[in-house]
Amino acid sequence: MRSASILTLLIFALALSAAHGKPDPADQMTIAKDGKPLAVIVVPDNAGRTEKFAAEELQKYLEKICGARLEIIPENKMVVEKGVGPSSARVFIGKTTAAEQLRNMLKKRDTDAFMVKIERQQIGEFVRPGQWDDRPGTWHDLFLVGAGDRGTLYAVYDFLERELGCRWLAPGELWEEIPRQATIAVPAGARLEEPGMKYRQDYALGHYDWALKQKANNGRRLNWMLNWMPERYREVAPLPIDVRGWESAHDTPPMVLGVSRENPEWFALDNKGKRVMSQICFSNPEVHDLLAERLSQLLRECPELDFISIGCADGLTVNYCRCARCLEWDALGSPERQGGKRGGHTHRWLAMVNAVADRLAESDPGKTLLAAAYSSYQEPPDPAVIKPATNVIIFYCTWDGCRLHGFEHGSDDPNRAPEMGAHSKHRQWIEAWRDITPAGMIMLEYVQRSSMDGMAGANPRRFVKDMRYLKKNRFVGYAGFAAPLPWGLHIVNRYAVAKAMWNPDIDADALVKDFCEHAFHAASSNMQNFVNTIEDAMQTAGCNHCHVTLWMKPEVMAAARRHLDAAHAAAAGDATVGKRLRQFEAHFHYMELAGPAHNKFFRVYYGERDPELMREAIKLGEAALAYQAEMLKEYPDEPFPTGGKMRGYVGADGDWPKLLESIEKAKK
Ligand SMILES: [Zn+2]
Ligand SMILES: [Zn+2]
Repeated sequence: MRSASILTLLIFALALSAAHGKPDPADQMTIAKDGKPLAVIVVPDNAGRTEKFAAEELQKYLEKICGARLEIIPENKMVVEKGVGPSSARVFIGKTTAAEQLRNMLKKRDTDAFMVKIERQQIGEFVRPGQWDDRPGTWHDLFLVGAGDRGTLYAVYDFLERELGCRWLAPGELWEEIPRQATIAVPAGARLEEPGMKYRQDYALGHYDWALKQKANNGRRLNWMLNWMPERYREVAPLPIDVRGWESAHDTPPMVLGVSRENPEWFALDNKGKRVMSQICFSNPEVHDLLAERLSQLLRECPELDFISIGCADGLTVNYCRCARCLEWDALGSPERQGGKRGGHTHRWLAMVNAVADRLAESDPGKTLLAAAYSSYQEPPDPAVIKPATNVIIFYCTWDGCRLHGFEHGSDDPNRAPEMGAHSKHRQWIEAWRDITPAGMIMLEYVQRSSMDGMAGANPRRFVKDMRYLKKNRFVGYAGFAAPLPWGLHIVNRYAVAKAMWNPDIDADALVKDFCEHAFHAASSNMQNFVNTIEDAMQTAGCNHCHVTLWMKPEVMAAARRHLDAAHAAAAGDATVGKRLRQFEAHFHYMELAGPAHNKFFRVYYGERDPELMREAIKLGEAALAYQAEMLKEYPDEPFPTGGKMRGYVGADGDWPKLLESIEKAKK
């Protein structure tokens, strides 16, 4: 393992010197020396669960770094001898009395803001510089203090990361990078941190501990949902924080369904005149009352929430209610939008959302309602007809967007239409929603869908750039929908998303470099080349929604392979890096087999109709499938070692053999 970056320490010291003139080399806090603790961790007398957890996390990671276990004590047990001061340096966590002044400074900030401050304290006579650490009456205090408790926990992780050099590169212990050093000394200094995006969600099912270290603050924590929520919709996430909002796009029908099957008129009328339970009637005022009442109940149970979600069942055209009133609401828009086309349901959807939001404005002032813009209700409404209520946040989802490029792709190149159609459409829609949504928007991005068949590209810079675009367009949050794939090449994208959510202005090149240095040590430059080769190929490839493997050209894959092989050689003897590279390797090798398989299939599918080419695609696909099975044996605990739907393509009853059969038949 590597030692803490001297540079970080220097930056910290420089921050101080800007305010106080020259940095003083003696003005530093020694937390541990030669594996012995020289500080205590102080928590408030009535510390909450988040503060206690923050103290324990700090204790745990400091021990991993230096071997010393710092004691955690409540503030009232702190020993301070009159005229002499405390017996050791102190780390104050959260809402202690000692940190009152700092907390007051944070009061007007975002609730996730925090302060990291190391301050020299002294009692009695002036002590000459250079001597204070050895003299009684002088000591250092470290304050890790949030505007709220969540911020306090972020302060702990951020201190470990920035001042001490820890990294949590991906979920799991393998990707934890902790420097080892017997002595921990940090220069005095202070910094205030605030989130760039207010609401940050990594859909990290099963990886909440990692998401927290990345300062995520939203949950899909449904365990507090009431009894009427069917079991399968519950998700138990023992987060030691209060989440800030509940994001969920499709939960309303089960909410209604859980309440009553005796009221068929609350559900959608199908074209045969029957009520279907999978979707609700949007225009029934009783449904609005019911939803407002239930959501208000949840807000009362979870006063920490800023927002709560409203949704409808998934699907583009399925089961939208055909009752007269719902159809009438659709008809408020232009005729070309009607009849279940894209944009066809925006007016009825927003009318229901606003009806519920108006009720919540009365019962729960200050709270907001999160409503998806998705599928047939993604196109913005005609603002002359309806706009989101002032307490509605729009949850915009890029489900049908280009999977390779960022939002601004092609914006400076009008001649490249219609390839750019998907980008310009989303830009127009995002900007139109922005102009009529005063509460702001949250982006739901399918981070993992820069891939197909489980094959992610590595395009971290794209996601960082997107975050900046969203921030510019007054988005208040981002949800990185990436849950099942915390693996292989996905890792670097997800890490970039996590960092950019907190700081959209982060330098993407520096971020990739930092990631590779911490993850791959001696193989850092090889892996930077590997990531850059893939990212360049993706960025220069044509727009694509489905056939994203088209960027995997033979020369690109060969160049990436050379960098990966060189990385293996450079990291020889470093067991940890070897294991990390192996995860990238396993994923990439699947891509080497499956990418060309897909590309050959596309050629056949789009016209070549060559049975020999199709046989080659199937053969490669079968090899990819066999490799996937091998990887599942190597990583038995990991359900997604290479992702992939190859079984559905080339397995028994697969689509590809069927296509081959039909081509051969036609040839006869
Ligand atoms: Zn209806
Ligand atoms: Zn594109």
